[in-house]
Amino acid sequence: MNSGSHSKKENRTVIIGGGPAGLTAAYELIRHGQKPVVLEKLDKVGGIARTENYKGYHFDMGGHRFYTKSEDVQAFWDEILGDDFLVRPRLSRIFYKNKYFNYPLKPLNALLGLGPFEGFLIGMSYLRWQLFPYKEEESFEQWVTNRFGKRLFETFFKSYTEKVWGIPCSDLKAEWAAQRIKDLSLKTAVLNMFFKPQNVIKTLIEEFHYPRKGPGMLWTTVKEKVEENGGMVCLESDVVSIQREGNVVKSVEMKQNGRYSTLLGDTFISSMPLPVFIKGLNPPAPLEIQKAASQLKHRDFLTVCLMVNEKELFPDNWIYIHDPSVQVGRIQNYKNWSPDMVPDQEMSSLGLEYFCNEGDELWSMTDDALVALAKKELAQIGLTSEDQIVDGCVYRVEKTYPIYDDGYAQSLDTIKSYVDSFENFQTIGRNGLHRYNNQDHAMLTGMYAVRNMLYGEENNLWLINAEEDYLEEVKVDQPVQKDDVVEAVKGSLGHVFPKLDPFALGIALGAVFAATIGIITLLSVIPNNNMVAEYLALINQFFPGYSVTIQGSLLGAAYGYLVGFVVGWMFAFLRNAATAVYIASTYRSAQSSALKQIFDYI
Ligand SMILES: Cc1cc2nc3c(=O)[nH]c(=O)nc-3n(C[C@H](O)[C@H](O)[C@H](O)COP(=O)(O)OP(=O)(O)OC[C@H]3O[C@@H](n4cnc5c(N)ncnc54)[C@H](O)[C@@H]3O)c2cc1C
Repeated sequence: MNSGSHSKKENRTVIIGGGPAGLTAAYELIRHGQKPVVLEKLDKVGGIARTENYKGYHFDMGGHRFYTKSEDVQAFWDEILGDDFLVRPRLSRIFYKNKYFNYPLKPLNALLGLGPFEGFLIGMSYLRWQLFPYKEEESFEQWVTNRFGKRLFETFFKSYTEKVWGIPCSDLKAEWAAQRIKDLSLKTAVLNMFFKPQNVIKTLIEEFHYPRKGPGMLWTTVKEKVEENGGMVCLESDVVSIQREGNVVKSVEMKQNGRYSTLLGDTFISSMPLPVFIKGLNPPAPLEIQKAASQLKHRDFLTVCLMVNEKELFPDNWIYIHDPSVQVGRIQNYKNWSPDMVPDQEMSSLGLEYFCNEGDELWSMTDDALVALAKKELAQIGLTSEDQIVDGCVYRVEKTYPIYDDGYAQSLDTIKSYVDSFENFQTIGRNGLHRYNNQDHAMLTGMYAVRNMLYGEENNLWLINAEEDYLEEVKVDQPVQKDDVVEAVKGSLGHVFPKLDPFALGIALGAVFAATIGIITLLSVIPNNNMVAEYLALINQFFPGYSVTIQGSLLGAAYGYLVGFVVGWMFAFLRNAATAVYIASTYRSAQSSALKQIFDYI
């Protein structure tokens, strides 16, 4: 594209990246009568959520379940996809030691599958870690072990998580798990116990939305709509540098079919990976910013797609392969996502997902070698025989997972304030914010960036999918946080279990006891009431000096006050303690229940 002669009056917005975040921003701008230019380096839109097509077979890069709590995102999907937005049943299982286990994990099914002896060892290990947990919960390993015991962690969590991340679970921050567990807030979980069944969790487990021909169908339609309304979506346009004057971005330089050109703009929105953006700045960013950016890391991913001459292979949408004897991490059965993913209903198509790092041994293997590996592993697992596999292809996807390692949070903080200092630039999306955002969150960052731009709103895009207040505003669930316990007690839970004030209850009960004893004693002093007086006199055994006299009524009232205060104070204290223990255990079990679904979030 030639660029230079752009008139200022047009107010051109340049969007880097034609994935969910970038295209959502473009679509929002179109709705407001603007004509943005989207630059996408690949030959198709959709980013990680694109759909590849090989000989009429559609392949999702991963399997993208469409699920959101944001009404804006849901409305966007419904508007674009209409009747092509299917509701699909969900089944997924874990393959481990030649057996299939229910997923999300069900304790009885897991213990039966593993056998009584292993079950016993897992039970013992659970008890041991409940009694003597790790004091610090910094790593994923410590976090899960404290909830399920070491043995169950090693059986069901370790091998798959390490396949995905390529680093030991002891090096993976617990924060990752905490952020991923967001379909369940403590408050919701506890309130559900009293007021309603766990609809949200159940729904996501049993069914999900999916476009008839994969997620790419959504993004191709959005591209068409942007173009129909005067916007531009330029494919194979790789942004290689970003020209700035101080804290104002002036233009981007891009490579298209080996040729370089410059595009001027007034405002810029980028969903390219944050470290790549920083590296591309011209003049360069300050040294400490460059250093921080170089410390943000990603994990990559490749899918080996196989066409299989079998009508029905297995009932799952996908299977997690925890078994360490094979390298494949997950197997997608696309026909079960949507029958239209295959051109011939007599055939099936699978995606064998391998998690890797760009340039490592797996990534660098030839496509033929990868197809051969996938065929061999598929046969080894026993899902089909090699001679049934009639064709195969490979798709490599860069920077699929932003890594949360030890230094990432500090590096990100350093970069944030620098990026925010730009007057006419916003960074959005999963890699643009280096946040483990799902498609809906990535889209929300695009929507909010446009609101900031057009209405001068000050939405903090770094906080989407990160902070409670923000999430409530955009109507998505918040992650389980320690402070939720306190909040839950203070908030809605307070209505169910109001906190008792020991002093107030002590004083109130003391006053009641004092008045009761004092008044009854006074009444008993009246002549002809000897029966009551005789009984009352027995109190003297507990309250030395007490007698059924006018002076005794005062002393009795004082004793009554003291006893009433102690009883009231103790009752309130014990009741509060019991409530706290109950809430803490509910919090714990809410987390454990969410943890059983952790792989859904990878
Ligand atoms: C295996 C897997 C499964 C997933 N499953 C789900 C799921 O079930 N549900 C769900 O909601 N989400 C899921 N996600 C997450 C979802 O894919 C992402 O949240 C979403 O794609 C992020 O959108 P984005 O636009 O921020 O980034 P991306 O999808 O990464 O898009 C960024 C775009 O920018 C382009 N780009 C990068 N650099 C440049 C450059 N220099 N010049 C021009 N263009 C550039 C890229 O080519 C890309 O097209 C999954 C992700 C993975 C990896």
